[in-house]
Amino acid sequence: MSRLVVVSNRVAVPGESRAGGLAVALQAALGERGGVWFGWSGKTVRGASGEIREHVDGDIRYVTVDLDRADLDAYYNGFSNRTLWPLLHFRLDLVDYDRATRLGYNRVNEMFADKLAPMLRDDDIVWVHDYHLIPLASMLRERGVGCKIGFFLHVPVPSADLLMAMPDHRRLFSTLYAYDLLGFQTRRDNDRFQSYVRLYGGGRIVEPGLLEAPDGHRFRTGTFPISIDTPLIERQAAAAMSKPALRDMRASLERRMLAIGVDRLDYSKGLPERFHGFERYLQRHPEQKGSLTYLQIAPVSRGDVGEYQQLRNQLEQIAGHINGAHAAPDWTPLRYVNRNIPHATLTGFYRSARVGLVTPLRDGMNLVAKEYVASQDPEDPGVLVLSLLAGAAQELPQALMVNPHDLDGVADAIAAAATMPLAERKERWHAMMEHLRERDIHAWRRDYLAALEAA
Ligand code: UDP
Repeated sequence: MSRLVVVSNRVAVPGESRAGGLAVALQAALGERGGVWFGWSGKTVRGASGEIREHVDGDIRYVTVDLDRADLDAYYNGFSNRTLWPLLHFRLDLVDYDRATRLGYNRVNEMFADKLAPMLRDDDIVWVHDYHLIPLASMLRERGVGCKIGFFLHVPVPSADLLMAMPDHRRLFSTLYAYDLLGFQTRRDNDRFQSYVRLYGGGRIVEPGLLEAPDGHRFRTGTFPISIDTPLIERQAAAAMSKPALRDMRASLERRMLAIGVDRLDYSKGLPERFHGFERYLQRHPEQKGSLTYLQIAPVSRGDVGEYQQLRNQLEQIAGHINGAHAAPDWTPLRYVNRNIPHATLTGFYRSARVGLVTPLRDGMNLVAKEYVASQDPEDPGVLVLSLLAGAAQELPQALMVNPHDLDGVADAIAAAATMPLAERKERWHAMMEHLRERDIHAWRRDYLAALEAA
């Protein structure tokens, strides 16, 4: 088996950060083959980027580089989060294109390529993650790297006409042709990327999933829906129920049902729409008023970016309005929490909730949807209300599917979830859980790596 080299913006160095599901899966893959995980150290310095740090753990080497403050601003806060993130989430209206941040993005990718190329062997396989590192393979190729290189995009691919609206789109997106395999979350993303290549990218579809670049070089695309560590989350959720944080939260509900939402505070998550949908539920279903409390966990993210600050203000205003208009002396309908909750505790919150609200306007996958399902008590499972615009909707058709822009539809789905009979809840949950047991995070990384090796 060839050595694996994983490249991502952030690296889960043991001891430095708590590893999430993706990190655990990548560490497992690296542990099986031996290898290197390369990326940004998370540290900024003044002056030149590029100081290397190394941490060895068994057969895995973690190699990270520091970034200069100005480079980080251009590459990460700038081009990645203010240009690519909104573009890839279909939000052309929020795209802030700036040649200076574009250059900074390239500069950091070049620096990564400079540091990484000398470490690579001809029989390595390299797996690059996400939109921060789109041009990396083409830069490695320029430095003579000939081994297999694959890419996985964790976010959606928008329609071709949106992609082509970004200035200089072809110069950036055609660098993807230097990979041997491009992995997407859903078939729709894969299809939209292929349309882009055909319509605006100068390439050709030889057959679905086999593409040809303008220079005649061929590469593959595929669909690999990311997932969760299903058995681990099942165990965590059951164990979490005896934690004091869980007992306190449940006691505070005073036997009312709980609806839960868990999202980074991001405009792609549809939080204002969800808050309005919840208020619509209170208005359309007065007979249920007071029977269900909605807890929204929304840790602040990307606080340096203006749109995120505006969103936070907007949500505080809507939450205040809803509670002002609908609360009773002994009941607050909406609890809005901006703190990050430890993952294990969160699984207990999911398990306590009769309704899971996952209503993004766009999401590559949405792992919260899968975690909510995996955390349920098999004897008394809750109901997932899921946006048809989340990648997870392709895999969890037994959820109550909603269009997040249709407030009446969201309101009625909350009401239906809150009153769904146990037999129907079980039936829907079993079908989704069976899928998640089969298609877990380890199946995802094995499938991807097998396809990259075969590419
Ligand atoms: N999460 C967490 N604590 C929180 C909020 C979120 O651990 O307070 C985790 C959540 O359990 C999930 C991840 O963060 O594993 C979010 O992943 P998702 O795919 O839903 O959205 P993303 O943030 O990647 O857009």
